[in-house]
Amino acid sequence: MYGIDILNSFDSLDLIEPLRRAVAAEKYTVPTPIQVQAIPPLLDGRDVLGCAQTGTGKTAAFALPILQHLTNDPRPGKPVIRTLVLTPTRELAAQIGDSFQVYGQFLPHRHLVIFGGVNQNPQVTALRRGVDILIATPGRLLDLHQQGYVNFNHVQYFVLDEADRMLDMGFIRDIRKVMDLLPKDRQNLLFSATLPEPIVKLASAFLDDPVRVEADRNSSTVERIVQRVMFVAHGDKKHLLADLLRNKDVESAIVFTRTKHGANRVVKELSREGVEAAAIHGNKSQSARTKALDGFKAGEVRVLVATDIASRGIDIDNVSHIFNYDLPNIAESYVHRIGRTARAGKEGIAVAFCDETETEFLRDIEKLTGVPLDVVENHAWHNPNAMPSLIRGRRPPTKRPDQDDDRPPRVPHGQRPSRPRQSESRPPRPRPAEARAGETRQRPAETRPQTSSARPAAAEPARREPAPVRQAAAPSRPMQNPSPSGILSQRPPRRARGSFTPGGTGGGGRH
Ligand code: AMP
Repeated sequence: MYGIDILNSFDSLDLIEPLRRAVAAEKYTVPTPIQVQAIPPLLDGRDVLGCAQTGTGKTAAFALPILQHLTNDPRPGKPVIRTLVLTPTRELAAQIGDSFQVYGQFLPHRHLVIFGGVNQNPQVTALRRGVDILIATPGRLLDLHQQGYVNFNHVQYFVLDEADRMLDMGFIRDIRKVMDLLPKDRQNLLFSATLPEPIVKLASAFLDDPVRVEADRNSSTVERIVQRVMFVAHGDKKHLLADLLRNKDVESAIVFTRTKHGANRVVKELSREGVEAAAIHGNKSQSARTKALDGFKAGEVRVLVATDIASRGIDIDNVSHIFNYDLPNIAESYVHRIGRTARAGKEGIAVAFCDETETEFLRDIEKLTGVPLDVVENHAWHNPNAMPSLIRGRRPPTKRPDQDDDRPPRVPHGQRPSRPRQSESRPPRPRPAEARAGETRQRPAETRPQTSSARPAAAEPARREPAPVRQAAAPSRPMQNPSPSGILSQRPPRRARGSFTPGGTGGGGRH
């Protein structure tokens, strides 16, 4: 019914002129696959269940039809809330607000973004003036509703965005509360990067015969990202990162850590190494987060160090590099992280640091994406002990860490590793004979993920614990070849003999 073959331009999407003008002003020429699939049924008034992550153009996919409906069915008088968009984080809420601003620039509708952590008075004042579109995080929304400032009685369009993250963040009760307050007769949209069982259940509770749309993974952002992995001892990560960030190929980078404290620590360590960076995470005040983000967007801050939640939905078009300083223990987070680069049709590079404790996370990530990461071996901090083939069979402990506590999991007395510490005053290990500057090599076949059945939509996010950190912080070693050109640029690094085949099968990166 909603065939996509002929829909290769915005003209074929039946959008009203002010929306087509707005899209043209943004220099969008071709709708993204999620837009092609979602816009026609949404214009027809159907409910939609969208499996798409940020970076796929999903905001326009829901904002354009909603703006069109509001325009085609004008209501005289003071605006009332006819559209409600629920979203998990402040940053994402602000970005969705920006998108409504952009797409609705030639239309009269008013939108408002509300979230917690800031003074409610300006939000209350704007609500009193009247808005057509309200974009909100659940806590502040319910708070303002309880105080009598938000009236749900006129909501006709309800969008639940990043539903999987909402559930991860414990918003399920708030979501249900909000849904109970909405009028029954409305059009519903649910977008989620993944569709695990709880999301499917939630969707079936409020979507009416939804059209299911899905971003084509192969043609989405991820395909434009060169993904690399560098094996490194835990204590050497800071040196490796500083070395890489000194490279002029890195125009702007986001460094991801698993915890808030980790983010702060990386900023300090980088500063000691002469690399300026700003942190953005949940412990920072909203104004500090906004300042860091604005500085980053304006190019004044080249390196942003972020946690997953704070970075969720960061929509900045010019991020050239993503560094996964810690590998996430939830594989889906990796996809969200690297999706901060290669936005708006650009290309990007994502480099993962993997220490000995993180190989299971790496395996989960490759299983989820179906893309083996290019292995970069030839760098000064390379740690072959962290390579999966060498530590296969070791399993991390089952204890759950506190995500906000970034102390390394405690190793009980008497169980300290007896192996010599990585990169203590030993001479550097001899490097593999085939390694050359900037070379990558393909993962040995037996460690490659199964690609055929690796569909993220089917699985619950894989949570794992970091294994005990076995290696102490390392003293600086003389640098051999810290960031050979090729690691940080789009061109494929030179081929390791007999292994990596650019354009060949299963080698990862841009093929
Ligand atoms: P989203 O997935 O909504 O976060 O969008 C990701 C990025 O893609 C944003 O920077 C949008 O401005 C951009 N974008 C959305 N739709 C298109 C399109 N059809 N063509 C080019 N860029 C787009």
